[in-house]
Amino acid sequence: MPSIFTKIVNGEIPSYKIDEDENYFAFLDINPLAKGHTLVIPKKEIDYIFDMDDAMHAGLWNFAKKISHAIEKAVPCKRIGIAVIGLEVPHVHIHLIPINKVSDMNFAMPKLQLSKEEFEETAEKIKKQLS
Ligand code: 5GP
Repeated sequence: MPSIFTKIVNGEIPSYKIDEDENYFAFLDINPLAKGHTLVIPKKEIDYIFDMDDAMHAGLWNFAKKISHAIEKAVPCKRIGIAVIGLEVPHVHIHLIPINKVSDMNFAMPKLQLSKEEFEETAEKIKKQLS
């Protein structure tokens, strides 16, 4: 069965898309730790990041780097925190999170409740910084 992220890539489930290319896709996390919390994934469905082949793995990080620069221009923050967890969704994803202090990376914290408009506005701001 396709993962929820494959369904997002295929447009079967809606997402606040940031960017995509032939191999990778970036979209806002639906339960964000911060405004701008973005997930970067390979389109190819692989569960565990260290099972990726070297080229695909390196490409994922290069794509994440590009997206991170756009997020930090769009969302005021000290830097972009990075996490790879993958306990909930078995499809490789890198969390990119605007942070100001170490506790901003605490996944046990309550997530933000954002409106559709807030998600859309955040996605637009980040997308603008890509072009
Ligand atoms: P992890 O697998 O790294 O523990 O967490 C998976 C992440 O995917 C969570 O932060 C969760 O909010 C996010 N997520 C799960 N389902 C969806 C979804 O349908 N849409 C989006 N945009 N994010 C999701």
